[in-house]
Amino acid sequence: MTLTQHSQKPCQDDLQNFGDAPEQVRDTDHYQQEYVEEFTDRWDRLIDWKARAEAEGDFYIRILREHGARSVLDVATGTGFHSVSLLKEAFDVISADGSPNMLARAFQNARDHGQLLRTAQADWRFLNRDIHGEFDAVICLGNSFTHLFRESDRRKSLAEYYAVLKHNGLLILDHRNYDRLLDQGVAVRSGKGNVYCGKDVNVSPEHVDEGLARFQYAFSDGSTYHLNMFPLRHGYVRRLMNEVGFQKITSFGDYLPGHHDPDFYVHVAEKEYKFDIDKTAM
Ligand code: SAM
Repeated sequence: MTLTQHSQKPCQDDLQNFGDAPEQVRDTDHYQQEYVEEFTDRWDRLIDWKARAEAEGDFYIRILREHGARSVLDVATGTGFHSVSLLKEAFDVISADGSPNMLARAFQNARDHGQLLRTAQADWRFLNRDIHGEFDAVICLGNSFTHLFRESDRRKSLAEYYAVLKHNGLLILDHRNYDRLLDQGVAVRSGKGNVYCGKDVNVSPEHVDEGLARFQYAFSDGSTYHLNMFPLRHGYVRRLMNEVGFQKITSFGDYLPGHHDPDFYVHVAEKEYKFDIDKTAM
């Protein structure tokens, strides 16, 4: 396996910049400047590793083991929560992310947990340019895929994930329940759920329409940050996965099969072509 290592020097400009019309910022590349160093420094207060580990239990480890997966590409490493958890369980993990700030933080976090992270800066749209190898599984977790604003970016990224997988590989991808937000508006209960468990940060949707979900993250020290994201309907994500070639999609709500109106959906997409497959599993 060959990795193209990129410079992991954090961004100099440490202010989020959404300009005069923040609700007009609907740009896939903007994630680079949303994860400024100060926000990445606070990200783990939003996650709360201990609470998240308790909420998830062995959900991902069980799915990976059930499918015989050993090598895992974490394409949205963030601050490293899943990469580190999987390393501790003896999976063979490569940790990628498009943000050098996030990768730098993840590398340090892993060291604090006694693990050495193998990192690669890679944008999903060009994944195979920067990461050469085949994996049993790709994970894209923590509501990350939502950063892609154009349908062509979503299709290209899914195709890139598909391409780095072995013939019987697995993609595990999650996202917020945006159906609820889109159908009921920003006043709806939309908490941190069981993914973002931190107690000293208030997460609230500020704006939603079919092309944008803008969230505010207000920390107890008075600092506030925002993320502009594309609101993914869960049926739409399943359809796209099928259309790029994944054969079977099994979806979970808050880590339970067939659970409706959850805070988060998790989709497990299988690449292996079987003649008698039931493509509609939920
Ligand atoms: N998985 C982590 C977690 O659960 O805490 C991080 C989630 S964070 C919401 C989303 C991550 O996706 C960020 O680290 C961001 O840099 C990364 N990201 C967003 N768009 C990307 C892209 N086009 N290519 C690569 N990484 C991207």
